[in-house]
Amino acid sequence: MPEPRLKGKQWDLAFEREILDLWAKEPELYAFNPDRGPTYVIDTPPPYPSGEWHPGAVVGYSLIDMSARAQRMLGKAVLFPMGLDRNGINIERTVEKKYHKPLHEWDREEFIEKCREEISGIGEGILGIARRMGMTMDLANTYYTDSDVYRAYSQGIFIDLFNKGLFYRGERPTFYCVSCGTTLAEADILYEELPSTLVWIRFPLEGGGSVTIATTRPELLPACRAVIVHPEDARWTTAVGKTATVPMFGGAALVRAHPEARMDFGSGAAMICSYGDMVDVRLFRELQLDPVKAIDEEGRMTKVAGAYAGLLVEEARAKVLKDLEAQGFVEKVEAIEHKTPLCERSRTPVEFLSSEAWYLKQLEFREPLRKIAMEMTFHPPRQRQLLLDWIDSLTIDWPVSRNRYYHTEIPLWYCGKCGLALAPKPGKYYRPWKDPAPFEECPNCAATEFVGEDRVFDTWMDSSCSALWVTRYRIDNAFFEENFPAHLRPQGREIVRTWLYYTTLKSYLTQGKKPFHHVFIHGLGLDARGRAMHRTTGNYLPADPLIEAHGADAIRYFGASETGPGDDFRISEDKIGGARKFLTKLWNVARFISAFPPIPAGKLKASDEWILAELNALVSECRGAYEEHNAYIPSNRCREFLWNRFAPHYVEMVKARAYEGDDGAVYTLHAVLQDLLRLLAPIVPFCTDKIWREVYGGSVHGELLPSIRAGVREELTALTPDIEAFNSMVWQAKKDRTIPLGQPIDGISVPESLKRFGDDLTRMHRLA
Ligand SMILES: [Zn+2]
Ligand SMILES: [Zn+2]
Repeated sequence: MPEPRLKGKQWDLAFEREILDLWAKEPELYAFNPDRGPTYVIDTPPPYPSGEWHPGAVVGYSLIDMSARAQRMLGKAVLFPMGLDRNGINIERTVEKKYHKPLHEWDREEFIEKCREEISGIGEGILGIARRMGMTMDLANTYYTDSDVYRAYSQGIFIDLFNKGLFYRGERPTFYCVSCGTTLAEADILYEELPSTLVWIRFPLEGGGSVTIATTRPELLPACRAVIVHPEDARWTTAVGKTATVPMFGGAALVRAHPEARMDFGSGAAMICSYGDMVDVRLFRELQLDPVKAIDEEGRMTKVAGAYAGLLVEEARAKVLKDLEAQGFVEKVEAIEHKTPLCERSRTPVEFLSSEAWYLKQLEFREPLRKIAMEMTFHPPRQRQLLLDWIDSLTIDWPVSRNRYYHTEIPLWYCGKCGLALAPKPGKYYRPWKDPAPFEECPNCAATEFVGEDRVFDTWMDSSCSALWVTRYRIDNAFFEENFPAHLRPQGREIVRTWLYYTTLKSYLTQGKKPFHHVFIHGLGLDARGRAMHRTTGNYLPADPLIEAHGADAIRYFGASETGPGDDFRISEDKIGGARKFLTKLWNVARFISAFPPIPAGKLKASDEWILAELNALVSECRGAYEEHNAYIPSNRCREFLWNRFAPHYVEMVKARAYEGDDGAVYTLHAVLQDLLRLLAPIVPFCTDKIWREVYGGSVHGELLPSIRAGVREELTALTPDIEAFNSMVWQAKKDRTIPLGQPIDGISVPESLKRFGDDLTRMHRLA
């Protein structure tokens, strides 16, 4: 038996470190090189740089890396940038908590300084994990959304759109998070079914009688301006058109018939107050009611609440209910589950407050946005619906101003005399709260005093510029013209309504077209039982120890093979351990083949032609899948091919010939191994490269994906079931007759249909 070229007796995790060192010395392997082929630009999601990376994100980014690697091996010059999204409330909250001091009590300059300090202290642990996982983004040139240059870029895009008249200032009710102290966009809201109390409250009617409304927000009674009932609700027909008196607070509320009232909820009658939900907001506008502000920005009742003024919302709710009960206004109290809007960051209930904000127009563009959503190719295709549904569900324009500090400043000044909002020239980073106004005089009234805007952008205003940034809009015109729309946006499903939607909106407003040719949406990483994984719920598997215990390739292989594209994946250590068995199998087969010196071509026998025909089918299926950003098919098909077909059947059939140095067998063994390594390289880059380097020299990552071999008789695959059935039958017969596999067996002959494989099959089984 000749000596295998592959030295290690088995796949060893230490090899991953060794390969990482080699890659570090060969940066050109993954670098963007326009000479390599057509350019392919990927708009990689810029993660928030937390101290560690959620294991679901590690798998998600691994899937994205597989797409990038596959595109490189399909002959593209892949630009695979990396950014870190460091603006925002996350870092602000960390600083607030650490110093026990809420944002608005800080000196702004000092607070920003502390945020910078904190964010650099968090460091770039996730970039280290990305490197360790074999991800091939351009980590050396990582961009930061909180850098002066990126903020200037984001402001520049804002100024363009501002000058086109796409932003307006409005005082209108919108989502407001009391605990974050800021306005929110619809995309910042999540809904959860929470236990709540539905209170049935009797409102006296003029001329006698009463109407009973049901509400979960009795503290909003002082802001009640109308009562609605469904036009077909027979219970309340006689109340319609009458005026009701708001219990305890006085005030008149006209009872109106309105289709928005839900006959199946509570008493069927609802109070319309400013503001309990979006229905209230809509009806105040539609019915031209006069709103009052009952809750302030701190989450306390205002003076219209009379005796309850100054109380926190929850305190007021309890107290109002108690007093209503004492005064006999409560008909009944019901415990219900109520769909409650929460702030996505603080997970606290949001209020609907009327406040002044800058809005980016979006509602009037829903039709063209739908159209460009249809022009992008989604992988998998069903995920497009998430974007379409979101576009359809929008009810307000995008409020983009936030009362926060560690964000990109809104680059506007206001004329001190006439109040006109003025935008500077794009290109510089502006901080209007501290910088001098870059204007001589107001074009409207010639005044020379200006007041800087002190609010900042919603962070999605920054990250939605990423597609323009990575295609070098305004940085390199020729490159931009050629590469916008970007080729691929890969991302998780949970940020379709934010990152994908806002990027699409920005692209439409600045360029009038789609931002991407292809959108690849991967699923979420859940725990083994299908629940979200959080530190607080005790089901969290930190990424670092998982990588240390099982290696990057095992986690990557798990991520690729576990679920179909777009489906959520359940992360379990058992399954990751199982993925490692496949690497062991690949290693063992490669090691066996590595004992035979590779040769360029040989004279093929029928068995060789048969496996090459099967290989062609595999190559064709895997290439097609990679084009679709689908790593599920290559990972699973290669495993089935290796484990169930190539190793047990073909390798056993030709072993004897290979030992004799038969060039057909040796050539074919290497042809299959090389193609398998190339097909698996995007998924398990460490193991495949280690094998390739030792057996063939060079790196497998400098190779292209294999192509179909010409001149192979594809029709031989029709015989596969017969070959495998025959082999199984002989194995079973030996087992039944307790004959060791390597010993001869008599009474069995190769059937007519497999005559062309007769020699190989006879020697394989030692048919007597
Ligand atoms: Zn919040
Ligand atoms: Zn002016």
